[in-house]
Amino acid sequence: MSGLYKLTLSQARAGLQGGKFTSLDLVQSCLERIKATEPKINACINLLEEHALETAKTLDAQGPKSDMPLWGIPLTLKDLICLKGFPTTCGAKFLADFTPFYDAEVVERLKQAGAVIIAKTNMDEFAMGSTTESSYFGRTANPWNLGKVPGGSSGGSAASVAACQAFGSLGSDTGGSIRQPAAFCGCVGIKPTYGRVSRSGVVAFGSSFDQVGPLARTVQDAAMLLEVIAGPDDKDAVSARLDLFPQGLPAQNFTEAAAQAGQKDPSDSLKGLKLGVPKELWDSGLSPEVEEACRNMLARFEEAGAVLTPVALPHQKYAIAVYYIMASAEASTNLARFDGVRYGFRAEHPQDLLDLYTRSRTEGFGEEVRRRIMLGTFVLSSGYYDAYYRKAAQIRRLMRDDFDRALGHCDMLVAPTATRTAWDFGFTESDPLFAYKMDLLTVTLNLVGLPGLALPVGLGAESGMPVGLQFMGRPFDEAALIKVGVAAEKLAPALGMPRAVAD
Ligand code: GLN
Repeated sequence: MSGLYKLTLSQARAGLQGGKFTSLDLVQSCLERIKATEPKINACINLLEEHALETAKTLDAQGPKSDMPLWGIPLTLKDLICLKGFPTTCGAKFLADFTPFYDAEVVERLKQAGAVIIAKTNMDEFAMGSTTESSYFGRTANPWNLGKVPGGSSGGSAASVAACQAFGSLGSDTGGSIRQPAAFCGCVGIKPTYGRVSRSGVVAFGSSFDQVGPLARTVQDAAMLLEVIAGPDDKDAVSARLDLFPQGLPAQNFTEAAAQAGQKDPSDSLKGLKLGVPKELWDSGLSPEVEEACRNMLARFEEAGAVLTPVALPHQKYAIAVYYIMASAEASTNLARFDGVRYGFRAEHPQDLLDLYTRSRTEGFGEEVRRRIMLGTFVLSSGYYDAYYRKAAQIRRLMRDDFDRALGHCDMLVAPTATRTAWDFGFTESDPLFAYKMDLLTVTLNLVGLPGLALPVGLGAESGMPVGLQFMGRPFDEAALIKVGVAAEKLAPALGMPRAVAD
């Protein structure tokens, strides 16, 4: 059966459950698609062909299970999420030969739900970057234009989903790495509330920011993935536990929320919705085509009955500085474990222990990772800790206060996902500070720990590349974002198959 790879995840599920095709059919279709598109986009670091075929056959032998939400569905995984028995490289030379002997909690949940992992996807080294250019395994190209970056750091996941190599993927978002590549490749990405999804078995970058979340071709599909991976886990110390919330965590039935919204007219979902429009995010130097596509959507929301309310985020101007101080500090401590002794890369013929540490880290890490370790070590050093790290932590608190105030009188906030569409390879590579500033619209949400949903709202009039819009919600209220996301998706122009991989 050809062309099955073009289905959405929910269509694939319906077909499997109805016996129209098997999991093996789906896996074979995706594998063919991967083989046809990989030479162009390089979205995958490891293709798990045999594993996927075997898993599909085992599932098929048992027949469709309606109580397993992802039964038989091929997915890809960002290569910082541990999958037992297969390399987890983090896009890094340091971990090129690292094979975990356990599954990440999110992988266990995917497996229990019946998913078939078909490939591990490319990423910026240790998830540091916004272009997927810093991967040790070569860069990934944007399926809409092979001369442009797919965004990052989950660029491989976004490209694999946009190019229909799989029905969905998991990425991680420390400062925008799910939402920004979703925007650049024209797919949907959700960054859950900090604590909503377990990070056990996920290589850490900035531990007070990191969240795992889904990328998919529709909001409904992303909701289905989120429902499977979300929820308390004792193995993650910051996982939000139900019993600690006196009134209970807001509902986690994301699939149902999406399905209900799907049956409604967008105006029924949007009528009376108070959408906060933060001036600081909209006035942050948007390219004309991004501004146009996003403002068009605001006009459609208003026509559908949403009430647009200007809100202020007065500390937004510090977002980049605060994020890069704190995320680098946390990265420098998290990456201290890569010492050439315990696991991963080890320099050859060391003179002594210090030489082993120094050379393993110098030879094993790429330039951007070394830059962040140095920056992070500096801002944590005695004498500078108070001036940088502590100050940043204080401003971070004020930023959360800004959001709490805004969300006190609005249901959610809305802003573009990135100031511009995907850029050419090399555009940010020579100027790290310039690259950092490109994260202006995404890092804020990680600083305040709140959930966000990014979705495509059309192609830029000038570049012809996808433009992304993001909704930012109240803590643990992903369901509200999903409902509004489904309505917004109906109002947005459909993008179709990415040009460079259209068949
Ligand atoms: N671009 C940001 C950074 O380089 C975000 C990365 C991420 O979310 N993993 O830090």
